Amino acid sequence: MLSEVHFTGRRCVGHRESLPEKLDSLVDNSGLEEVVAPGDLVAVKLHFGEKGNTTFINPVLVRRVVDKIKEKGGKPYLTDTNTLYVGSRANAVDHLQTAVENGFSYATVGAPLVIADGMRGRSYREVEVNGRHFNRVNIGSNIIEADSMVVLSHVKGHILTGFGGAIKNLGMGCGNRSGKQMMHSSLKPEVKEEECRGCATCLEWCPEQALVVEEKGNKQKVAVIDPEKCVGCAECFMACRYNSIKIKWQSEVDAVLERMTEYACGAVKDKLDKCQYINFLLDIIPDCDCNSWSDAPVVPDVGILGSRDPVAVDCASVDLVNRQPGIRGTALSASFDPGEDKIKALYPASNYSNTLEYAEELGMGSRDYKLIE
Ligand code: SF4
Ligand code: SF4
Repeated sequence: MLSEVHFTGRRCVGHRESLPEKLDSLVDNSGLEEVVAPGDLVAVKLHFGEKGNTTFINPVLVRRVVDKIKEKGGKPYLTDTNTLYVGSRANAVDHLQTAVENGFSYATVGAPLVIADGMRGRSYREVEVNGRHFNRVNIGSNIIEADSMVVLSHVKGHILTGFGGAIKNLGMGCGNRSGKQMMHSSLKPEVKEEECRGCATCLEWCPEQALVVEEKGNKQKVAVIDPEKCVGCAECFMACRYNSIKIKWQSEVDAVLERMTEYACGAVKDKLDKCQYINFLLDIIPDCDCNSWSDAPVVPDVGILGSRDPVAVDCASVDLVNRQPGIRGTALSASFDPGEDKIKALYPASNYSNTLEYAEELGMGSRDYKLIE
């Protein structure tokens, strides 16, 4: 089945139409009318950005989507789940404070902010999926409670998933804290002792106090992981700037991607026909907005995509990113020519296309799409 993906480019040629105005048209053309019925409680699923990150979706653009939902008679609220790691969004209080500091206040976005899995990430509903790994997944209650959902995803790279778009936003983004642990549970990181500098940065990010820094025989300080406490969240891997933590990419990461895809399936299972997906191909950075920094974009801004199909919108996003020329002097060190795989160049071991294939197998959508400008 061929799914429609609507596209508006980043350029505002001749200054005739601003990006927010172009977004208005895209939201209408890609099916908001069929998704939102008058009186619907509409979850606007997005990522508020970690403190220090600057590349999350601009609240000015989010406001336009909120206004469109209200125009259709819906009652929008902005939502995300708490994080597993100990950053600035691990509980609802810190999370909302970070969101407001990043510009997502009622005054700017025109909608209330509701954390989907409650104060400490324990508010969830079980959803049956019958996947390769899980029969049931734990989805934040306030995602399930929604009548319809508009999923706003910032497209960028990701150290584990290779590529972050709608499916990652649904999978990692809608699972509650225990769900996130279950998705990561096959990861077993190890410290490369000879490369560890004993700086203890990884300790600050570990949600389970599974790491300590100890002196070895030669007086060298190294990090040590307690395998009994470790839940495999990979935060230490991402936090270590000396590349001193290793994980087994092929077997372990592939399983995490499949688990994440099963969670994505669970997040929309009860409202497959009541979801719209808007992917923002702007500020296409190498890493996730979960980081407390934003590195420089690796390709130029492309534009915005809208669809009723999460698989198709992610496939189109990948294709459009890879079609761009790579920007030199960034995290990208190869595959600069248009058409070369930028995501594989950033994360050679990530099989991101498996995620799209598995999402299609689970009935979430189609990898065949028609791009409509
Ligand atoms: S593993 Fe990395 S972050 Fe942790 S102590 Fe060693 S060098 Fe520092
Ligand atoms: S992967 Fe394990 S050791 Fe590393 S931060 Fe997560 S829980 Fe801690």
